[in-house]
Amino acid sequence: MWWLYAALGFVYLPHFTTAEEPKIVIIGAGASGIAAASKLYEHGFQDVIILEAENRIGGRVYTTWFDESWVDLGGQWVHGETGNAAFKLAAPLELLEASGEKNWVEFDIHNSKGVRLPLDLSQNLMALLTNVSGEANEALAGNNGSIADFFTAKFNIELQKYPTFNETLVKEVLKMFEGLTIATDSSDNWTDISATGYTAYQDYPGSNIVNWKDRGYGTILDVLMKKYPNPEEELPIMNNTLLNSEVVNVNYNATDKKVLIETSNGQKYTADHVIVTPSLGVLKEQYETLFTPQLPESKVKTIKGLSMGSAAKIYLSFEAPWWSSNRDLILLWDEMDRQEYENDPSKKWLLDLIGFFTVAHRPRMLCAWINGAGARYMEALPENQAFNEAFTLLNKFFGNSYNITRPTAYLRTNWSNNKHFRGAYSFRSVESQRSGVWANELAAPLLVDGEPIIMFAGEATNSQRWASVDGAIDTGFREADRLIELYNTKNPSQ
Ligand SMILES: Cc1cc2nc3c(=O)[nH]c(=O)nc-3n(C[C@H](O)[C@H](O)[C@H](O)COP(=O)(O)OP(=O)(O)OC[C@H]3O[C@@H](n4cnc5c(N)ncnc54)[C@H](O)[C@@H]3O)c2cc1C
Repeated sequence: MWWLYAALGFVYLPHFTTAEEPKIVIIGAGASGIAAASKLYEHGFQDVIILEAENRIGGRVYTTWFDESWVDLGGQWVHGETGNAAFKLAAPLELLEASGEKNWVEFDIHNSKGVRLPLDLSQNLMALLTNVSGEANEALAGNNGSIADFFTAKFNIELQKYPTFNETLVKEVLKMFEGLTIATDSSDNWTDISATGYTAYQDYPGSNIVNWKDRGYGTILDVLMKKYPNPEEELPIMNNTLLNSEVVNVNYNATDKKVLIETSNGQKYTADHVIVTPSLGVLKEQYETLFTPQLPESKVKTIKGLSMGSAAKIYLSFEAPWWSSNRDLILLWDEMDRQEYENDPSKKWLLDLIGFFTVAHRPRMLCAWINGAGARYMEALPENQAFNEAFTLLNKFFGNSYNITRPTAYLRTNWSNNKHFRGAYSFRSVESQRSGVWANELAAPLLVDGEPIIMFAGEATNSQRWASVDGAIDTGFREADRLIELYNTKNPSQ
C-alpha cells in the first residue's frame, strides 16, 4: 500500500509496534548524518540516535561567531542551483544570494615583488582560466591521466599570445593557475587529479558561488532539522544527538544481527542499522580498528584508493577595509622568490596560500585560502606564527599598493590536524583511477541476510557531487531512503 501513498504524494509513516521499531545509530552529526536523521524522523522512525565525536553538530559545516559576524570554517558557498539539495531547501526561504552582475568580484593580482598586474590583464587572465576550465570537461573525456597535461598544454598555447609575456612569466602564471584550479579538489598539485574524476563531477546550472548573506552554511542544519523557519516544527534530532561521543568500534559479528557500538567514553549501544558518516580521512586512519570483523577487502581497497585532500582558511578581520570591496587579492609568485621559499621548509607552506579573498557581507574581512600540503603544515603551526607569517605575506605582495593595517582579529581552521576529519574533502586522484575505485563502492552497504546493516553516507560516498555539502546531504537522504524502502517492503500491509 505504501507505493500507492507515495504515488499520490503522501508521506507514508510506518506504524511500528515497540517490538518492531528498528534501532538506528548514525555515526557523525555532519550534513549527511543530520540529513539522514531528519528524513528518518519525517518518515516515522523514532528510535534514531546520532553519536558525534565533537562537542558540536555540523562537522565540516562549521559556522562560528567571529568578530561580530558569522563565518564559515568549512563549507561556505552553495555551488550551483538547479539540482543542488541545499539550494532547493534554502532558496525558497530567501536565505541565499547568488553572485551575479550586481556583486561580481574582480581579481587584483600582485606579484611577490609587490608589483600589481594591470587590472584589465588580471581580468583577462581570470577569464582565460574560467574558459579553459569550462572546455576541460569535453577535452578530458576518456583521458586516463591527470588534468595537468591538458591544462599545461592549453595554457602554454594561450599565454604565448600575450606579447609582453616571456618564458618565466608564463611559468609563473601557470603556477598561479594551478593553485587556483586545485583549490576545488584540495589536492597537493594538479598532477594528482584524475582527468576521469574531473569529468565525472556533476556541475549544476545556476550560479556556482551562492552565499548565505549574513548567515553561514550552518543554517542548513536548522533547515534540515526543521528548526528554521518555524521552531515549533523542530524534529527531535538535537535531543537524540550525543555530543563528545567518539565511536571506537562497530561490531557487526553477532548472530542476532544486532550491531554493538562502543564509544571512547565506554558507552555501549545496540542497533539494527548503523549509518557511518565520518570522513574518508577518518576511515583511512581507522578502518582497521573501527569495525569488527574487518571490512571486506573491496571496501578497504576503495578506502585506500579514493583520496582525501587538504585545504585551510585563515580569516583576517580589520578595523576597516583598506582594499577595494569587490576585488579578491591573488598572489603571483616571482620565480626566484618561489625557489627561495621552496628551499626553506619553514616558509614553503606560504607558496600554497593562493589569495586573500573578500567575504560577502563581511566588509571588514579577508579570507586566506591555503591548498594541500601548505594547509596541513599551517594547521600544525602555533597559531600566532601562522597569523604573523600570513600577514607578512600579505604585506610582501600588496603593501606597495595599499595602506595595510594590522588585523584586529584572526581565526584559522583545523581540519587535517583534527582526528575527526583528517582532511578537507575527498577527490578522485590518478591513484583512485589506477586502483579502479569509485564512490559507489564506498557507498555500498554491508548486508546480513540480504539486509543493509552497516551503511555508509558522507560526501566521499557521492559518485557525482563529492566534496560538497549538498553532495553530503544527498547521501544522507539516500541511506534514509534505503531504510524507508526496506521497512515499507517488510510491512507491506500497513
Ligand atoms: C575548508 C573547507 C571548505 C569547504 N567549502 C565548501 C563549499 O564552499 N561548499 C560546499 O558545498 N562544500 C564545501 N566543503 C565541503 C563540505 O563542507 C563537506 O563535503 C561536507 O560538509 C561533508 O559532510 P559529511 O557529513 O560528509 O562529513 P562531516 O561533516 O565530516 O561529518 C562527519 C561527522 O562525523 C564525526 N565523526 C568523525 N569520527 C567520528 C567517530 N569516530 N565517532 C563519532 N563521530 C565521528 C565528525 O566529527 C563529523 O561531525 C568545504 C570543506 C572544507 C573543509
